[in-house]
Amino acid sequence: MRVLVVGSGGREHALCWALAGSPLLTKLWCAPGNAGTAEFAENVPIGVLDIAALVRFAKEQQVDLVVPGPEAPLVAGLADALGLEGIACCGPSAAAARIEGSKSFTKELCDAAAIPTALWERFDDAEAARAFVRLRGAPIVVKADGLAAGKGVVVAASVAEAEAAIAAFMEEGSLGEAGRSVVIEECLVGEEVSLFALCDGTHAIPLGAAQDHKRVGDGDTGPNTGGMGAYSPPPALPPALEAAAMERIIRPALAELAAQGTPFRGILFAGLMLTADGPKLIEFNARFGDPECQTLLLRLKSDLLAALQAACDGELADFDLRWHDQAAIAVVMAARGYPGEPVKGTEIRGIERAAAVPGVRVFHAGTQRLDGKLVASGGRVLTICATGADLRAARDAAYEAVAALDWPEGFCRRDIGWRALPA
Ligand code: ATP
Repeated sequence: MRVLVVGSGGREHALCWALAGSPLLTKLWCAPGNAGTAEFAENVPIGVLDIAALVRFAKEQQVDLVVPGPEAPLVAGLADALGLEGIACCGPSAAAARIEGSKSFTKELCDAAAIPTALWERFDDAEAARAFVRLRGAPIVVKADGLAAGKGVVVAASVAEAEAAIAAFMEEGSLGEAGRSVVIEECLVGEEVSLFALCDGTHAIPLGAAQDHKRVGDGDTGPNTGGMGAYSPPPALPPALEAAAMERIIRPALAELAAQGTPFRGILFAGLMLTADGPKLIEFNARFGDPECQTLLLRLKSDLLAALQAACDGELADFDLRWHDQAAIAVVMAARGYPGEPVKGTEIRGIERAAAVPGVRVFHAGTQRLDGKLVASGGRVLTICATGADLRAARDAAYEAVAALDWPEGFCRRDIGWRALPA
C-alpha cells in the first residue's frame, strides 16, 4: 500500500515508524514531516492545512491511504476532500470531527446517547452565564465552545474566577470567535485518563489508554502545553474499567454519530475523569494524542497498517489487536522558552547515544537537519520513549537516555509517571 501520513510531530514520527514495519507497505510519505520521519518516509513540503495540495499529491502519487495526525486538517475537511477522489482516509469527515471542534456539539451528543458527563449549560449571553455561575457556585468549569488550543478551559475555584473567564472569553474576545459562546460545567473530581479507540463508522476496538502531563513544570505546575509526557497502560484504568468506558462512552457516541448520518471513522480519543460514580467524559478528540500515541504504538504488537485499513473498509467487527506485555513511557524534550517563544536553531548532540540505551526509541518533533547537524526548530523537539517490564523500568531507561543527550538548550519534566510511581 502507498500511504501518506500528515503532520510533523513526535506522533507522526511514531506513526511512520509503526507503518514502516508493515509488510503491506510499499511506499510511505509524510507531509510535511521532520528529520525523524525522513528515516522512514519521503518528506513532502506540504502544510497540514493545505487541503487542496494534499489531495492533489495523494491523487498524483496514487496514494491508497492517508493517515492524518493532527485534528486541524480533519476539521478543515481533509477526509471529505479525499473521499471525493476515492482516496481512503483514516480520520473522520469534518461533520464527525465536530466532536473535537465544538464542545456544545459533544455535550448534546452525550445527552442524546446518555453518555455520562458533567452537567452543563451553553450560553451566548455573558450576563446569563454570570447569573448561572452565581446560582451554581464554585468550583465550576468555564469553557470556550470552539477550539482554543488548550487555552479555552478555566477550572474556576471561585465565582469571581469564573466571572473573569466569562468576561475574557465572551466580552473581551480573548480567544476570538472560539470564545463567543461558552459551555459551563459541573466540576468533576477524580483521576484523568485518555482512552483511545479505532472506529470504522460502526464498530470500535480499544487502542489502549494512557495518562498525560499537560503542565510544563514538575508537580503539574506552570502553564499548559501540548503535552510533556505520557505513559501506558495507566494503572488507574484496569481492564474492567476500560471495558466499561468502551460500552458506556465510546460505543454509544459512535452509534449516535452514525444515527445522525455522520459516522465516525478513525481514532476516537476520550478524555475521561474516573469519578466515584465511574468514568465520565470530559472531552472527545478526533485523533491520537501526542505524546500518548508514541506510548500506545510502542506497545502495539499487531500490524498498524492492517488495522487502519480495516477501519477504512468498515471491517473492524472481528478485528483483534495484540499488545506487548510491557509498559511504555514518553518524556518530551522541549526547547527553552516553551510553551512561550522557544529558542530555535540550537544543535542537539548525542541522539545516537540516547537511542542506544536498551528499550529506548527517540521520536522527533521540531527538528531539522542543517548542514549535517540536527537542530531544534520548534517548541516540543524530541520524545524520548522507552518500554520496560514495568513502568519503573521504562521510566529509568527514558531518563538514562535523556542524560545521554547533549542539548543544553533543551529541558524536560523530571517526574513523568508520578501518579503511577509514588516516590
Ligand atoms: P481547548 O478547547 O482550549 O483546546 P481542551 O480541549 O483541552 O481545551 P478540555 O479537555 O475539555 O479542553 O479541558 C481541559 C482540562 O480541564 C481537562 O483535561 C481537565 O483537567 C479540566 N476539565 C475540563 N472539564 C472539567 C470538568 N468538568 N471538571 C473538572 N475538570 C475539568
